[in-house]
Amino acid sequence: MEAPKMRVLILGGTTEASAIARHLAQDPRFAVTLSLAGRTSNPAAAPGLALRVGGFGGSAGLARWLAEEKIAVVIDATHPYAAQISHNADTAAAERGLPLCTVIRPPWQPDPADRWQTVHSMEAAADALGTEPQRVFLSIGRQGVGAFLRAQQHSYVIRSIEPPEDNALPPDTTVIQMRGPFTLEDEIDLLRSRHIDVVVSKNAGGAATYAKIEAARRLVLPVVMIERPYKAGRHFVATAEEALDWLVARHAMSRSDRGV
Ligand code: NAP
Repeated sequence: MEAPKMRVLILGGTTEASAIARHLAQDPRFAVTLSLAGRTSNPAAAPGLALRVGGFGGSAGLARWLAEEKIAVVIDATHPYAAQISHNADTAAAERGLPLCTVIRPPWQPDPADRWQTVHSMEAAADALGTEPQRVFLSIGRQGVGAFLRAQQHSYVIRSIEPPEDNALPPDTTVIQMRGPFTLEDEIDLLRSRHIDVVVSKNAGGAATYAKIEAARRLVLPVVMIERPYKAGRHFVATAEEALDWLVARHAMSRSDRGV
């Protein structure tokens, strides 16, 4: 008789989550659902993978969903700045007694040539820009842009995949709608052509969005770096590969528990 598949929920929205999901979709030991918040349109699907889009309704809604779907294991591979969903995952998995693995890529570390000012919130980043008008590359995605309404003396360039809502934007804002990855040359060209004075960034970590940090270093531009929020979880790994190793070990444990 065929062994039952281990039912896995992957909380996604990152390259790591997509890589884990794509890999597991090919593995007959697992039945995988990839969950996305629904912030971007046209999420990429993969054969053999169940995709669900939209919130669960807090930790209680997530706990209910885990029970209904008979999920055995949760992998939280959400973005380092997605703190709420990780809190919900930790709470709901604990309530259901489920193992939880949280994938969090290591933050970037400043190079001696970098000119970073580290701050703890979007509001603090807006204040750190100072009183004199600056041309700011606001590389923080769509969310949180509203915090910069308090610093309307600056002009902003925002690049995001989906357009931000107009009423959240400071008056002097140019939106560039583009999807990465961007090369170092792309980023140097952007910072030069837009006459940028300062870059505001989250410390996302990883290679995919690092070119702008390197470009700022080359052009000797300051970077206001917004620190990561606290991310709840119990077992943390840094890469998709480590999460897969952890999952395979859980699968082996569950088989030996069942005496298979
Ligand atoms: P968040 O503040 O931690 O979560 C807000 C709410 O969005 C959650 O309470 C949950 O709603 C819903 N949600 C978040 N991630 C979800 C997921 N993977 N599946 C289903 N529902 C989800 O999250 P966020 O910062 O808005 O990020 C949203 C998504 O974008 C995440 O998937 C994240 O990985 C991705 N992302 C975020 C950033 C960033 O800078 N924050 C950057 C790149 C990608 P309910 O309470 O109703 O369940």
